[in-house]
Parts: sequence; C-alpha cells; structure tokens
Amino acid sequence: MLKKPFAFFLIAVICPFFWGKNPSPTPTKEPINIILMIGDGMGLSQITAGMIANHNELNLERFRHIGLIKTFSSNDLITDSAAGATAFACGKKTHNAYVGLDAYKRPMTTILELAHERELSTGLIATSYIQHATPASFFAHQPNRYMYEEITEDILAGTVDIAIGGGRKFFDQREDGRNLIDSLAAHGYEVFNGLSKAKKQAESSRVVVLAKKEHLPQVTEGRGRFLAKAADFATGKLKQNNKGFFLMIEGSQIDFGGHSNNKDYIVNEVKDFDYTIGKVLDFAEADGNTLVIVTADHETGGFAIEGGDIDTGEVYGDFTSGKHTATMVPVFAYGPGAEEFTGIYENTEIFTKMINAFGFDLNEAP
Ligand code: MG
Ligand code: ZN
Repeated sequence: MLKKPFAFFLIAVICPFFWGKNPSPTPTKEPINIILMIGDGMGLSQITAGMIANHNELNLERFRHIGLIKTFSSNDLITDSAAGATAFACGKKTHNAYVGLDAYKRPMTTILELAHERELSTGLIATSYIQHATPASFFAHQPNRYMYEEITEDILAGTVDIAIGGGRKFFDQREDGRNLIDSLAAHGYEVFNGLSKAKKQAESSRVVVLAKKEHLPQVTEGRGRFLAKAADFATGKLKQNNKGFFLMIEGSQIDFGGHSNNKDYIVNEVKDFDYTIGKVLDFAEADGNTLVIVTADHETGGFAIEGGDIDTGEVYGDFTSGKHTATMVPVFAYGPGAEEFTGIYENTEIFTKMINAFGFDLNEAP
C-alpha cells in the first residue's frame, strides 16, 4: 500500500497532466522521408581536410546526433563499397564485391525495394556510374560489382523512381547489342542526357538522368554543383508522394581521390558533398518530416593530416595506402529519429535503424 504522503504527491504531480487538456492526436514520430547520404571513402581525416580547406567550417557541424560504425565485411576486415553499401541497404554483412546478395549469394530485399513495395517513392543519385557498387547495392542483385551490364538490367525491375548519375554506356553501348534506354522508356521512364533538360522537360514522377557515358567529371573539372542540383530536382519530385520517400545521395568521388592519393581531389569532393549536405538539411528543416543520415562506407587511402592553415585553407597530408582501410567512420543524423544514430555500432544497423524510423514491419506483407 502507498503511504499517504506519497499518494498525495503522485496525485499532485500526475493530475495536472490530465486536467483541462483536450486529448491531442498522438504525434507521429516516424519520418515520412529518409535521405541517406554516403560519402564514399569519407573518413574523419577526409572530413577534417575539407573543414580546414573551408576555413574551419562545414555544414556537417549542423548535426547534433553523431555516431561511429564498424565497417568490416563478412570475409574481410577491410570492406569494399559493394559489401559496405549492401550492409546499409539490406542489413547484413556480405562478401566484398557482392551487390544486394548475402554471403551465400542469396538475394536480399533492399530498403529501397521495401519502400517501393510500400508505395513510397524512391531515388538514387551518384557522381559515378549509377551502376557503380554503392548505388547498385540499393536496386541490383549480382555476385560481382563489375557486372555492369547485368546491374543495368536490374534497373528495369522498376523499383527506382528517380535515378541520376553517369554510366550511360551500359545502356546504349552494350556488348549484347541491346539498347536499354529504349527499354527504360518502354517501362514508363522519361530518360534524359542531362539534368537541366530533365528540370525543364520532365513531366512524370519516374525519371532517369544519364548525365554522362562514364562517371561524372570531378567537381573541379566541369561537374560544378551537379550533386546539389540533382538532390534539389529529386526531392522536388519525390516529395509529391505523401506516403513519403527514400533517397540515397552518394558523394562517389571522395573515394577516387583517396585511391589516387590526391589530397586536392579529396578536399574538393568533400567540400562539394558538404555543400550538398547543407542544401539537403535546408530541405529537411523546411519539411520537418525528413530524417537525414550522412555516413561513409569506409575510409580510403589511410589519409592523415600533417599540417595546414585554417586562414589560407591549405592542407598537407599523407597516405598509408592506395586502398580502403578498416578505421571506423562517422554517422551524422538530423530529423525525426536522429537520436537513434548515436553510439558505436555495426554498419548493418544503419539499415535496422532506418527500417525502424520508417516504421516498416518486415514480418508483415505490405
Ligand atoms: Mg561508391
Ligand atoms: Zn574505393
């Protein structure tokens, strides 16, 4: 039995919450939209180099919920981009080079496909081939990331509403002689060779922009603000679905700079990715119902900063490798559900946390 003073205390504390208030509708905690931004090869040194070059300032500083992920794959301490992105997309560690398959080569349903099944809209943006390992892991199921023609065919499954990137040659200059741009059109997609044309002419909600035959050029070699413009175009289309959307945006070439041990390449790509992050955060702030997650699949180059100057923006650094490394990489989250992304955890939990944030029940047919 409660002692008298304690009972009075309870009544005094709890009752004001019920008196004089109309029952308000339960606020929905689930985000309607998730934007996952992957800086390929973007470790802490890459971020710090971009920050120094940008005079000690990045949009990443706008995030308040920050964590770290362990990136190893099922067969190697050092992941590649296929196993790394598959962990985010499907929630399981797999072999390096596998795309959307588990370690036994069984297809797994990706978060993009789960969103599509539930009638959310979906989008993918990359500054590499759109069939490159990172974006491919969200829509394709192939035992080797370099099977570009097969990965291209997987787009025809139709689970991606908006796709923007390079890699046009795998549609129209194929070894099998087929023209899959025609197939895209037959599947109801509007297809464009450039973003500005798509902006002016696209009428439907299913748009593929194949901006280059190859990868997009480096940001300093003519790409300009392509990534931020693509993000703006995609969110403008995707937000028209009131069931919500899933969008993956990749800063693909931070990794390229790491592989070539090119510090300036890394810095310029990080700055462009961060500029895009700023625009995406502006969208999420205005929208109020969008969860933004920024992370990396792994670090590339074993890059370390050895000097520099915040005033001049100069950065000096060196590399221990031309390959990926096993160091943990950061996760930044903003919006409804962002608090779930703090701590140290496996890269596969990015998937679990996104599924929980969406409120998807994987045991129930959509
Ligand atoms: Mg990539
Ligand atoms: Zn790489």
